[in-house]
Amino acid sequence: MKSVYSTAEKGPFALNEALVAREQDALLRRRTPTELVTGSRLWVGGRDYLNFSANDYLGLGSHEAIKTAFKAGVDEHGAGSGASPLVTGYSRAHQQLEEQIADWLGLEAVLLFNCGFSANQAVLKALLGKEHLLWQDRLNHASLQEMGSQLPCKMRRFAHNDMAALEGQLEPGRGLIVSEGVFSMDGDQGPWAALSQLAAQSHNWLMIDDAHGLGVLGPEGRGTLAAQGVSPNSVHIQMGTFGKALGVAGAFVGGTRALVDYLVNFARPYVYSTHMPAAQACAVSQSISLVRAADESRAHLQRLITRFRQGASQLGWTLGASETPIQPLLVGESRSALALSERLRAAGLWVGAIRPPTVPAGTARLRITLSAAHCEQDIDRLLEGLGMRAEGLHYA
Ligand SMILES: *Cc1c(COP(=O)(O)O)cnc(C)c1O
Repeated sequence: MKSVYSTAEKGPFALNEALVAREQDALLRRRTPTELVTGSRLWVGGRDYLNFSANDYLGLGSHEAIKTAFKAGVDEHGAGSGASPLVTGYSRAHQQLEEQIADWLGLEAVLLFNCGFSANQAVLKALLGKEHLLWQDRLNHASLQEMGSQLPCKMRRFAHNDMAALEGQLEPGRGLIVSEGVFSMDGDQGPWAALSQLAAQSHNWLMIDDAHGLGVLGPEGRGTLAAQGVSPNSVHIQMGTFGKALGVAGAFVGGTRALVDYLVNFARPYVYSTHMPAAQACAVSQSISLVRAADESRAHLQRLITRFRQGASQLGWTLGASETPIQPLLVGESRSALALSERLRAAGLWVGAIRPPTVPAGTARLRITLSAAHCEQDIDRLLEGLGMRAEGLHYA
């Protein structure tokens, strides 16, 4: 295959070489502009597809009440926030959203961030000095892994959900354990009762990234801790995002008043970044009201998950141990995952192939995500597409 990247060009940065190498390994990423994404569908190139790739698990991304709240917020507060939060970017709308989240999740205090990636990095950077230790699950999100490896503290990564491995690494009172509520590429959950017990016993702090559990799991969609019956008081730091089940964008970090006040003073991505628009806070606030009352949607979603898992395993596919809307279908080789994703696309089904380095080598997969916006017929169409197993592909 002829590459569009010229490796003849010389300079201080080997951009073209890096791109050619990715291309040759079937690992090059390309973006596809969508024309419209709404509910269970998306439009690309004038054609509509059933969308099994979004993180909009409750279908709230295009909810009328949220759009209306966003527009009303723009009318009242303007399009932007005008400044960073310590200057004039922090409004009554932001403060009310913080209080609403604290009330929803049983937290003393909450702080808003423009995105989860920077929230995670801000927290780790503000807390961990060279005298500290950071313990992370191997499958934690890139934002946590990347910041952990850049910090002056020592980082230990434990095998996925392996509590014996973590216990063997822990040292008393030395730092922070971080794991996820629902793992983003696998859909399985962290063992939070065991994690909180290990943290308490070893006098270390514990942080949950619940980007994919919030809104989806537990009573009122309070997330993984509520679903597993773990008290929010036994986890020192909770992080969640507004861009997944909540259907908007942004993130929060919650915990004690002291934690939030410390971050307001020492978290540089918070202090030196323009605050999220107040209108966005209004939209998130409306979304949380809907999420708390969405038990019906969560029950419907759970029925779709069961229907999908039964159908896919009957077809002989290897599924992950996931009871959440993230349903990875293990393929193995990157080329096979891409080919399968293209086949599904030809059948009008949009499913992303996830390849290394996002997932470990040899575990390329289709990351299928289900949403309460889907109906049973949508799941059956997906299963029909997955039934057409192509010749010449190598599956796990
Ligand atoms: C999406 C995600 C993030 C980043 O959140 P954004 O608001 O999208 O930046 C962090 N952690 C996990 C586990 C995620 O899935």
